[in-house]
Amino acid sequence: MYRSNHCGALRIEDLGKQVTLSGWVQTNRDLGAMTFVDLRDRYGITQLAFSTEKNAELTEKARKLGREFVIQVTGTVIERSSKNKNNPTGDIEIEVAELKVISISETPPFTIIDDTDGSEEIRLRHRYLDIRRPIMRDRLITRAKMVKVIREYLDNQDFIEIETPNFIKSTPEGARDFLVPSRLHPGNFYALPQSPQILKQLLMVSGMDRYYQVVKCYRDEDFRGDRQPEFTQVDCEMSFVHQEDVLNMFEGMTKTVFQKIKGIELPDFQRITFHDAMKYYGSDKPDLRFDCKIVEIQDILPKSEFVVFNQVIENNGIVAGVNAKGCAGYTRKQIDALTDFVKEPHRGLNGLVWIRWNEEGIKSSVDKFYTPEQLEIILKAFDAEKGDLILLGAERASKVRKSLGDLRLELAKNNGWIKEGDYSVLWVVDFPLFELDEETGETIFMHHPFCMPHETDIQYLESEPLKVRGQLYDMVINGNEIVSGSIRIHDKQLQDKIFNILGMTEEEIENKFGFMVNAFRYGAPPHGGCAFGLDRWVLLMTSGDTIRDVIAFPKSSNGKDMMMDAPTYVDPKQLDELGIAIKK
Ligand code: ASP
Repeated sequence: MYRSNHCGALRIEDLGKQVTLSGWVQTNRDLGAMTFVDLRDRYGITQLAFSTEKNAELTEKARKLGREFVIQVTGTVIERSSKNKNNPTGDIEIEVAELKVISISETPPFTIIDDTDGSEEIRLRHRYLDIRRPIMRDRLITRAKMVKVIREYLDNQDFIEIETPNFIKSTPEGARDFLVPSRLHPGNFYALPQSPQILKQLLMVSGMDRYYQVVKCYRDEDFRGDRQPEFTQVDCEMSFVHQEDVLNMFEGMTKTVFQKIKGIELPDFQRITFHDAMKYYGSDKPDLRFDCKIVEIQDILPKSEFVVFNQVIENNGIVAGVNAKGCAGYTRKQIDALTDFVKEPHRGLNGLVWIRWNEEGIKSSVDKFYTPEQLEIILKAFDAEKGDLILLGAERASKVRKSLGDLRLELAKNNGWIKEGDYSVLWVVDFPLFELDEETGETIFMHHPFCMPHETDIQYLESEPLKVRGQLYDMVINGNEIVSGSIRIHDKQLQDKIFNILGMTEEEIENKFGFMVNAFRYGAPPHGGCAFGLDRWVLLMTSGDTIRDVIAFPKSSNGKDMMMDAPTYVDPKQLDELGIAIKK
């Protein structure tokens, strides 16, 4: 028997018991007459006591134990003289009678504590050691608990977990596929699924009615932001449902997870249209843990000689701003920093106009152009009070919205407007079905080509496709898109029309989605669903900084597995077998 108890189990009630524990040496403190060793396993830490007086030989052996040695001890549970209230086992220690070294360890390359000295790179290289840190262990445990709650919830709602293959044909999530060459069919490739989208829709055609899967998805995207080339979705699909049914089902699931994992009772989720999200928050994933709405003022702007605003309005742009509540005391330098922020090329404003209202009255960067009364009209549009600072930008609507959307987040960060532990969960609905590709100017789908348009908008499909709203929804948690989904098209003619608008030829349709189009010939039920991005959701429920923190063996930010050293060159023989040659 390696152990009678684990290292987090023993309490004051266990005094006098003979126990055997196994685990890793966390620390070893030699205090002369006594030596104390902290023994760690997944469940906790128990202190081991050795005394020279009682057993000199054993104590000598204990002194030689290095960090991360794996040992087994047998001894008696005794009361500790100096108790540690921060540790559940802190009232007791083990007076050790036997000690066995099971594995020795080299000195680990970083300290195995939450506040470690190891850089992320070195921790990724030695991930097995990193996961010994309680903080990492706890994130993985929370992840497992969340999945368990999700499975329970869906099971209670008659969902069936069905596995779908990893070697398939390309799926339409708009990213690049990872390809797997086929040895048996030289020159042919499988694609790894960007999501099981088509397969889950086919399961609806099969009559499975309610499907889910905790599933790996693969997208070969550039290393931007906090992404992983392989990531996990909780992928779901339901038959005979309207959008409302899907929203209610997964709002319920999300509430259950928050309740069971964090003890938080979430209120009913606010719903906001894509249009309003963009207009008022400059983002399709607004963070509503704080207010700071964008207000457009081009229609109420008093007449003046200020050419910057006048020109923008002439060119159908907008003038809009945010109220930085309580920021009237901002220094010149602080305002300059915010101006530089909105001028960064990906935001692209030319500057910020400011109006501050403090003890000395109202002052602005456009005092030359607006009378105090006119400035007051503007302040009123922002419900401004003494102490506030209004920041205004003028440009094309999309640029102003993006810039001010980012600015409100920046202000929230700088001013601590977001309370630790707060959650804002909402639905964004009515996304447009199509958007314009910025590079090519072509009409492309917003989500994937199987999304159902709003019935009332179908009339614009051919004439004004960009105006058509889809039955498309996202769930946003704290400014992160956690869920994305839609009601799907189950009518072949409508689907053909959409393919046409996307500029797909008959041949392309047949080649890419022939099997799906065929399946829909045999009676497709109305259906819809969504997918949760599990990694990011876990991150929001735990404490990490990046989604790498909630994945046992993640890729680094540039897509490498630092521990296994992948991707890597392969033996030319393997390439030969695949009929592949590498271009120089
Ligand atoms: N397949 C979609 C995605 O990965 C989710 C869905 O529409 O259900 O975003």
